[in-house]
Amino acid sequence: MANLGIPQNTIDVLQKHNFHFQKKYGQNFLIDTSVLERIISAAEITEEDCVLEIGPGIGTMTQYLAEAAGEVVAVEIDKALIPILEHTLSEYHNVTIINDDILKVDIHQIVEEKNAGKPIKVVANLPYYITTPIIMGLFESHVPLKSITIMVQKEVADRMQVGPGTKDYGALSLAVQYYAKPEIVANVPPNCFIPRPNVGSAVIRLTRYDKPPVEVADERKLFALIRASFNQRRKTLVNGLANAAELHVTKEQVAAALEQMGLPATVRGETFTLEQFAELSKLL
Ligand code: SAM
Repeated sequence: MANLGIPQNTIDVLQKHNFHFQKKYGQNFLIDTSVLERIISAAEITEEDCVLEIGPGIGTMTQYLAEAAGEVVAVEIDKALIPILEHTLSEYHNVTIINDDILKVDIHQIVEEKNAGKPIKVVANLPYYITTPIIMGLFESHVPLKSITIMVQKEVADRMQVGPGTKDYGALSLAVQYYAKPEIVANVPPNCFIPRPNVGSAVIRLTRYDKPPVEVADERKLFALIRASFNQRRKTLVNGLANAAELHVTKEQVAAALEQMGLPATVRGETFTLEQFAELSKLL
């Protein structure tokens, strides 16, 4: 089968199958072989790996994954793409295509069936409209994972990677950095896709920690605290946290905890490191 990373080959397949792009599914197909190679090398795919691909589209990256990995499972929501995938991937015997919504499939079951429950790698050019729910779902459900290497909107990649005191820092940065080490591995301009997205893109690798960098008794409490702090970004932590119904804390309790941490009652969440959020969650 022809390499779909070459633009004319993708155009031929789309025309042959009379495929119509569905905007609601965030369909922007990659047409750049060097970006595809970069993704595969950043994910460090070997024959030992079982890879979950989210949204294979017409199978462009799936071809590269099938060449490098032992096993590939690709979950695609658009049923119009399934006959195309069966055609473009017909040469590979290590690829399973599942026609479903990634937010609804039981990934634990896939890992159990295809990799005997051992950690898998996730590789994807993600549909941008559901980037955050996909990433958080993978982490929070504790699917056995080695790494997630994904194409996302540039701005979202920046948010995952930055530390305190920057405008992009927020709940997503902290959640990602609790579970994984983030590294942006490539910036990708719109002309590498068909159709072209309206935003710049980046490839980011999230390498799962064996153990989170901070220890807390209750992860849900830590994340509730983080969410509440950034929901009301402009408020001080004392006001923001006391206003959050799910936390059940008073201004006085927050102020006392901050004092124990040697901090003034006027601090804002956007200056807080993951370690400080963990300490605050223990004190409250
Ligand atoms: N991997 C292909 C590539 O790189 O050319 C396509 C990437 S395109 C940005 C995103 C793909 O995700 C599309 O094929 C789209 O139909 C699929 N998709 C969108 N929402 C999905 C969902 N909830 N579950 C599974 N696939 C989804």
